[in-house]
Amino acid sequence: MTTLRNLPSVESLLQTRIAAELIAAYGRPLTLDAFRAELDEIRARFKSDPELDLPTMDDILALAEFRLSAWTAPSLVPVINATGVILHTNLGRAPLSDATIRAMDAISRGYSTLEYDLVKGARGSRLIHAESILQKLTGAEAAVVVNNNASAVMLVLAALANRRRVVISRTQLVEIGGGFRVPDVMKQSGAKLVEIGATNRVNLDDYETALAEPIALVMRAHRSNFKIIGFTEEPEPGDVVAIAHRAGVPVVDDLGSGALLDTARFDIAHEPTVQESLAAGMDLVCFSGDKLLGGPQAGIILGRADLIAKIKKHPLARAVRADKTCLAGLTATLMHYLKDEAEREIPIWRMMSLTLKQVRGRAEAWRLELGRGSVVEAESTVGGGSLPGESFHTCVLALDVKSPDKFLKRLRMQHPPIIARTEDDRVLIDPRTVLPEQEGALLVGLKNALR
Ligand SMILES: *Cc1c(COP(=O)(O)O)cnc(C)c1O
Repeated sequence: MTTLRNLPSVESLLQTRIAAELIAAYGRPLTLDAFRAELDEIRARFKSDPELDLPTMDDILALAEFRLSAWTAPSLVPVINATGVILHTNLGRAPLSDATIRAMDAISRGYSTLEYDLVKGARGSRLIHAESILQKLTGAEAAVVVNNNASAVMLVLAALANRRRVVISRTQLVEIGGGFRVPDVMKQSGAKLVEIGATNRVNLDDYETALAEPIALVMRAHRSNFKIIGFTEEPEPGDVVAIAHRAGVPVVDDLGSGALLDTARFDIAHEPTVQESLAAGMDLVCFSGDKLLGGPQAGIILGRADLIAKIKKHPLARAVRADKTCLAGLTATLMHYLKDEAEREIPIWRMMSLTLKQVRGRAEAWRLELGRGSVVEAESTVGGGSLPGESFHTCVLALDVKSPDKFLKRLRMQHPPIIARTEDDRVLIDPRTVLPEQEGALLVGLKNALR
């Protein structure tokens, strides 16, 4: 009769050649944990079912190895984005340019001048690195980079409007996603909201009336992910600025996406640019680093030097500061704009600038390689809180499969996982967002999943 006494001990498992290999790969403490967990589980199972055959030594070692690989497998892994959504928030927004990755790599490998002035041989400031290039690019007097745009908005309000009143139109009290609601962030910062206008309409009189009272700031928030259509009204940004300035009140523009290039060049609608916002007289503009800028996660605040100086001094600035890899990467990404090579070097602009013919060519090549599917025209979106309601004309490889949902799941189980979408019961593979270097892996994954 089998009894638990026949179960190998941790000590005997450790004597094996496989154990030595596991220790080399995973370290001794974790390997021991895995052996103990495996043996505990077998004992528990045996107690509830004494008829059970005890696993052999080899079985236990194999199960322990499986456990170790599961314990150490990262959950954050690269995927192939075949959805056609260029700034897919769930898939990490903007992929970075080669120069950006090199800069982040170089700075993270060793020591750097993060807060060190080489000329003086003394302490410097981390805030200067991206600032001078942002000034050059936009003409803004000053700039500060923080962790992301949500913290940029929070910091601006905390530094300039704590316990004071901030005017914002009800047409702009938006939720960006992931629970980021402009009104909630404004309240968190300690500012007092003065809501004006109606959900669909606001006019200059509304601003004028609100500005008759003492006001710290007028805030504007870009409706990043939806449109208001129909009976609507909203004054031009420049006119809002003029009224606010007459009352001596600065205006802050939360642009969200913060394009430096005009999206209208690529047959999609125009997304407000940073330059336009500054030209309209905005005192401060804030936007994300990883949306239409195409860089690493960051929040950028640009504008009047006196306001930026106050922001830099606020205690929250330290809490939301950008790290050295972010600053290195952001600077490298911004350099592409300065050198007028953004369209060629920054992946998201490359994707946007692909012509229908180029996208069709890739989809055709994949169809030939797979011997399956058809190439059809479709629409994809930019995503990531930009250009709501606007889509790209694109070409996709459409696959007819028995169960689209099951097929999507099979695609997600590939290495690397492939993320696609369905439309009219077909699975669509959009070449626009598949990086050229991922093409081989995509085809292997598709073939696997189709088998
Ligand atoms: C996306 C967005 C934010 C938040 O930016 P993150 O960089 O994601 O923190 C804030 N405001 C607007 C208008 C946005 O579109």
